[in-house]
Amino acid sequence: MSNTPRLAIVAALQEEVSHILEHMHSPVCESVAGRNFWLATYRSHPVVIVLSGIGKVAAATTASTLVERFKVKEILFTGVAGALDEAVAVGDVVIGTQFVQHDMDASPLFARYLVPGYERAEFSANAQMSARLKRASKTVLNSLGQVVSEDIVNNFKLHHARVHEGLVLSGDQFVSSNKVRINLKQAHPSALAVEMEGAAVAQVCKDYEVAFALMRTISDGAGDHAAQDFTAFLQAVASRYSALIVEAYLHDNA
Ligand code: SAH
Repeated sequence: MSNTPRLAIVAALQEEVSHILEHMHSPVCESVAGRNFWLATYRSHPVVIVLSGIGKVAAATTASTLVERFKVKEILFTGVAGALDEAVAVGDVVIGTQFVQHDMDASPLFARYLVPGYERAEFSANAQMSARLKRASKTVLNSLGQVVSEDIVNNFKLHHARVHEGLVLSGDQFVSSNKVRINLKQAHPSALAVEMEGAAVAQVCKDYEVAFALMRTISDGAGDHAAQDFTAFLQAVASRYSALIVEAYLHDNA
């Protein structure tokens, strides 16, 4: 492929990017490894848009394909996650700066969470992309009342939605129990959110020296009510939020 976009926009679930998919221009679809890669223009920017699928392996396959086949240089992941910190509420945005696979455990051969072969547990996001994503998220949250219906703002208590940045945990588990959430937080006190793909994509991006950034809107508290909260948020809010933040990100040329 010649002349492919630098930037890939990736989400795990259709609902997380349906708004973006509906508004892309001149889309050309290439199917590779069971995934549809949309080469398109979004808000005047050339991008590749793809669903990673759920979980670390699916996300890693998608990220590798983006680099090998589509030669992207930047991967921007958008989606939803469960909150792990008291200060992080449903509707808030978390920008991942560090990523840990909370289900990685090769102990006693290696320290718990350390990824064998890498001598580390944490993988990092690209600082410039993350700063831009943070600015974009703040811009969107500051004017949320103008772009999301009042009903949604009231139903999901989005009035005071905030942007956080820090550690995101990933693992092949939908965290929906208070007990599991508390254990994760004890093991990783600085963790802000938990999801199922970010750390895998961060590891692939490290391997290929591709820039990576991730933003997750909080859909649930990763506790006993996570499944209901997640589903409601996903249907009502996630797609709109992702699209607004990605648009603000693309417009920000600072
Ligand atoms: N309902 C979906 C399954 C979603 S799995 C289906 O049937 O297809 C949850 C997705 O949202 C994952 O992609 C994960 O990254 C994110 N997520 C949101 N809340 C989460 C939580 N509490 N624990 C783990 N992942 C969560």
